[in-house]
Amino acid sequence: MRELTDRISSEGEVIGSEILKVDSFLNHQIDPEFVLRMGTELARRFKDEGVTKILTVEASGIAVAMAVGLALKANVVFAKKKRARTQTEGIYSASVTSFTRNETVDIMVSKKYLSANDVVLVIDDFLAHGQALQALVEIVRQSGARLVGAGIVIEKEFQGGGAPLRASGLRIESLVKIENMENGKITFG
Ligand code: 5GP
Repeated sequence: MRELTDRISSEGEVIGSEILKVDSFLNHQIDPEFVLRMGTELARRFKDEGVTKILTVEASGIAVAMAVGLALKANVVFAKKKRARTQTEGIYSASVTSFTRNETVDIMVSKKYLSANDVVLVIDDFLAHGQALQALVEIVRQSGARLVGAGIVIEKEFQGGGAPLRASGLRIESLVKIENMENGKITFG
């Protein structure tokens, strides 16, 4: 998506060679019209799949997921992050190890909002090492719903999260792929 590569090039901030900050339009301040265009594009790619639910994880996936939900006329469920597994009844849960934050958290979704009758599209802002996406896939598996794929705003290909998931048969659509960010220079795929 040209508009996204342009905005990453002009507004993105590379931290080290691993982290990209896009706080000006997605991760801190949100540009609603732009997020709506990104969500509409992701929705277009999955429009014939009969999606009944969008699944994401709090917090930064929610805005894009809502834009996708608006376009596909499907409700958005966001997995909540819990530091400790206090309650296990009535929920689906999975662990996510964050390389950015160097911590492991459990994410959970109430069984009320996801069931075997659902057709699910997973949405997230970034795909890096793939931990968050794997946990969301695991939650869909627990629910018995049908998973049609994942829509990602920015995939950092060099961190390798997409390959094993695609190899397992998951359809992953990314609006932008980044090949590397060495020396602060962003190379798009
Ligand atoms: P993964 O689990 O694939 O390693 O990382 C995905 C999650 O970590 C995303 O949900 C996103 O919130 C966060 N993340 C990973 N890399 C970046 C990054 O470069 N910038 C930002 N802002 N978030 C990231």
